[in-house]
Amino acid sequence: MSRATSATVHTDALRHNLQQIRRQAPGSRVMAVVKADGYGHGLERVARALQGADAFGVAALADAERLRAAGLSQRIVLLSGPDEPDDIGLLRRLQVDAVIHHPSQLELLAADSGQSPLRVWLKLDTGMHRLGFAAEDAGEVHARLRALPTVDPDIVLMSHFARSDEFDSPATPEQIRRFDAATAGLAGEHSLSNSAGVLGWPQAHRHWVRPGGALYGLSAVEGRSGPDLGLEPAMTLSTRLISVKRIEAGAAVGYGGTFVAERPMRIGIAAIGYGDGYPRHAGSGTPVLVGDVITRSLGRVSMDLMAVDLDGLPEADVGTPVIAWGRGLAVERVAEAAGTLSYELACGITRRVRFIED
Ligand SMILES: *Cc1c(COP(=O)(O)O)cnc(C)c1O
Repeated sequence: MSRATSATVHTDALRHNLQQIRRQAPGSRVMAVVKADGYGHGLERVARALQGADAFGVAALADAERLRAAGLSQRIVLLSGPDEPDDIGLLRRLQVDAVIHHPSQLELLAADSGQSPLRVWLKLDTGMHRLGFAAEDAGEVHARLRALPTVDPDIVLMSHFARSDEFDSPATPEQIRRFDAATAGLAGEHSLSNSAGVLGWPQAHRHWVRPGGALYGLSAVEGRSGPDLGLEPAMTLSTRLISVKRIEAGAAVGYGGTFVAERPMRIGIAAIGYGDGYPRHAGSGTPVLVGDVITRSLGRVSMDLMAVDLDGLPEADVGTPVIAWGRGLAVERVAEAAGTLSYELACGITRRVRFIED
């Protein structure tokens, strides 16, 4: 039998989450962000399920190429834009919009002599200090872009939030204020909101929202899971128990013996480990769904295996299904135990895991 570890992608959940986002931001078009292989769910699979989106956002031109090869004809936006001259020709050939965030990209565009106009999104830095032109330079850069004969004059003005998941922080209103001040009087649609912007900041919905995590049912909001926010998990990572045994009081479990049984107990060994993308940093006590009961992990996660507590699960036996996260166990609970974000867990499923679509 092949290894039982598999990731089931729930395409109905992807569609449900897109609907939820549309309900939250009814006046906005939706750019479905599918970078990092659709947040680890599989780029083409996700894009096919989300054909109802108005555009797709990718981080790499190779991803745009894959989407076109899969027959998707929606608008595609390259979120970090071109970084070498050849990219311009490829953007044009694939009909991909380019985010322009740096003066070096203005040079690339100025040197371009192509025939058809390129669609551009002008990215402004309003306080995140990652990508984007200084907000004060918006007018000047906008004018330079509009003066280029190979750039489509309908330029979308965009920025990105650093702290939109903190619903009571003044940081997001401040970014919005800077964006509005910098773009006052400039022609063009606006795009500001990532998932947390959609959920928490209606004044930032504007023409285009750019959700990623929320589409996959992932929460970026501290202390809240995807289901808490009305989202459905788009992935269930599951396996089976391949061994069940009794251990004595004082027995240490796994590498380093970090879990020691206080009394005789039953444990199970599940066929999943960090070689599958289960986080090694999740210590003893991380929730695990075995059969239909949430129990806890025991000891260190190893490459292929992890131990779980079967006390109170007398029915559990070799072959019993185990869910690491997904339907029945919010990925945020595992992420919290591992000191990370659900996004990182979703992106970290490794290639040996079998993907199934339902
Ligand atoms: C990743 C990304 C998003 C989506 O962010 P989520 O938190 O996953 O919704 C939106 N916009 C840009 C520019 C991004 O890089």
